[in-house]
Amino acid sequence: MFNTRVKVKDLLATSPEGQDVIVMGWVRTFRNNQFVALNDGSTNNNLQVVMELGAYDDAFLKRITTGASLKVKGKLVASLGKGQAVEVKAESVEILGDCNPEKYPLQLKNRPSLEYLREIAHLRFRTNTFGAVFRVRHMLAFAIHKFFHEKGFLYLHTPIVTASDAEGAGEMFRVTTLPFDNPPRKEDGNIDFREDFFGRATNLTVSGQLEGELGAMAFSEVYTFGPTFRAENSNTARHLAEFWMIEPEMAFYDLEDNMNLAEEFIRTIIRFAMDHSREDLDFLAQRLVEEEKQRPQAERSEMGLIEKLEFVVNNRFERISYTEAIEILLHSPAYKKKKFQYDVSWGIDMQSEHERYLVEKHFKRPVIVTGYPKHIKAFYMRQNEDGKTVAAMDILAPGIGEIVGGSQREERLDKLEARMKEMHIPTEEMWWYLDTRRFGTVPHAGFGLGFERMVQFVTGMTNIRDVIAFPRAPKSAEF
Ligand code: ATP
Ligand code: MN
Repeated sequence: MFNTRVKVKDLLATSPEGQDVIVMGWVRTFRNNQFVALNDGSTNNNLQVVMELGAYDDAFLKRITTGASLKVKGKLVASLGKGQAVEVKAESVEILGDCNPEKYPLQLKNRPSLEYLREIAHLRFRTNTFGAVFRVRHMLAFAIHKFFHEKGFLYLHTPIVTASDAEGAGEMFRVTTLPFDNPPRKEDGNIDFREDFFGRATNLTVSGQLEGELGAMAFSEVYTFGPTFRAENSNTARHLAEFWMIEPEMAFYDLEDNMNLAEEFIRTIIRFAMDHSREDLDFLAQRLVEEEKQRPQAERSEMGLIEKLEFVVNNRFERISYTEAIEILLHSPAYKKKKFQYDVSWGIDMQSEHERYLVEKHFKRPVIVTGYPKHIKAFYMRQNEDGKTVAAMDILAPGIGEIVGGSQREERLDKLEARMKEMHIPTEEMWWYLDTRRFGTVPHAGFGLGFERMVQFVTGMTNIRDVIAFPRAPKSAEF
């Protein structure tokens, strides 16, 4: 019977009365042939197991190495040593799995770098940093479902395989069962997707939004939370080829309602993580301090991680229009001193350097930018009266840049169709989407939050590959 074990986290919070316990985990350290620091992933704190001196032979003791797995039966007692309140006085120790110290890559002596740990992603969960990151990630995921559930949103599962090229971005992974070497061809030489599994060209979804809109047109408030895929060849610290996105979609919402929801949402889930993952966040805050010591002064953050999160939870986000954002950039010292790599003028798609200037240097807080030029945004965004801009909103976060992209959707059939034609999006193929505008259309809005960017923000991890279990990025999908 294995399930009689008690987790380390729970044991550490139990008052010791000499009770019998069973604990299992992996050895972090073993010293003086007596003291085992045992960890089972429930917390970064280890449980001290004290083995009786002389009760075990040498050959057995040699097998208790970092990484080996143990089953320990013993009594939970108050600890005499410093650093822990309780310990387990072992009565029996069983080795479940040996771990060859010559080969095990996670020896504590040589602190492995984050980059190296990415190469052994199957083992990095066992480090303190990734232990903390993935427990915080879990807590945020839970908080997200809780937030929407309590607001009466319906969790809609949108498809992973889709036929729509909705974003029109052309950054999709194709899904096919056709042979690569000799695919069936039409008379004009193009591949004949009628012979493919689905009878048409299909791809992995880049967003669940369009399907989400269909849900909102019946359930009024829905959200998706699932994987999305983008074959963009951008090797940045903020882009993955496979990432998780949260996309709420709400009927009877305008842009302002949408912003209010996004702000409340972000604050609430951060607050939840701070209330329920404080130990891990404190650890990550300390890790960040250490990491930043390696960086030049100018690149260090002004606030510590906890301070930053408190600030976001307690302060309103700045709200400005795209036009105001461009004005700020044009009048900035950075622009005047030609510090930006990319030029600034009304109509540009702001680059990360511009977004980060706004949030990190100018406002020093998250910023919601609204009213983007229509030519840099997707077809479904609601057109403003000025004929130039759309009811879009992006939320920009310090250290990350864009964390949320959203908009009020174009609910007027004629305007939507006209815009699709302008952008060469085939309206016939999108009949199922346009039907919502034909049959009881309503004002509605929604947004997409990149889950990993949120986890980055909360954990302070610099590279997005370090907040997802098995990162998929250009030329990297080993595990
Ligand atoms: P960016 O300009 O940063 O590439 P985007 O404009 O392509 O973002 P959207 O299409 O609006 O982003 O997607 C919604 C959200 O999904 C973004 O705000 C971001 O948080 C997240 N996101 C987008 N692309 C990626 C990616 N490749 N990896 C991880 N998260 C992403
Ligand atoms: Mn992008």
